[in-house]
Amino acid sequence: MVIIKGLQKTSLIDFSPYTVSVIFVGGCDFRCGFCHNPDLVLRFNEIKTIKEEELFKHLDERKKWLDGVCITGGEPCIYKDLPEFIKKIKDRGLLVKLDTNGNNPDILRRIINEKIVDYIAMDVKTSLGDYEKVVNVKVDINRIKESIDLIRNSGIDYEFRTTVVPGLVGKKEVMEIAELLKGSKRYVLQNFRSSRDMIDNKFKGTEIYKKVELEDMKESIKGCFEEVLVRG
Ligand code: SF4
Repeated sequence: MVIIKGLQKTSLIDFSPYTVSVIFVGGCDFRCGFCHNPDLVLRFNEIKTIKEEELFKHLDERKKWLDGVCITGGEPCIYKDLPEFIKKIKDRGLLVKLDTNGNNPDILRRIINEKIVDYIAMDVKTSLGDYEKVVNVKVDINRIKESIDLIRNSGIDYEFRTTVVPGLVGKKEVMEIAELLKGSKRYVLQNFRSSRDMIDNKFKGTEIYKKVELEDMKESIKGCFEEVLVRG
């Protein structure tokens, strides 16, 4: 059962231009040091669970003006019954955006085959050879590649995105990622925010990339994608 640990009632930025509620699930199969949701990843058992009935009551009460939901975490695709959960949301006529780390292609395939999401945002953490250094767990890199292929060929709108972190993920890695994703529709460079608590607080307070450095990365890879965006 999908364990819901947080609900942001209204967001205008998580699935722009739509007005959505953001559903935060507990648990993740990665341990990225720069993760801004350490409680959702490491200590979600200590956070009060939001019952499904409570969530659906919330959605039903707002259906006149809510366009959809964004399902994020943690990592939604660690839950085998995620497709059934999403269907209950789609049955309410709502749009669904799914955030994922791409480590569970079997769940992603079911969701894509059943066409029950409207947008997929997948984090491509770093170049394939450096993955374990960033996510701090063993990774079968074929699963990441499989998710990338599934998303690119899904016919569903999507983005791939990378958080850039000085000393960990920089221009060299971004250029390798761009080569891997070449021909994809949309790629987003996200700046790291170093002021919040994270899984590994050694990153806290570190100097982040300047806007001009992000624009330089963007310039180097723009030929690989239809669109490259910089966020943060
Ligand atoms: S950043 Fe995402 S994938 Fe990484 S640990 Fe946090 S929730 Fe999991």
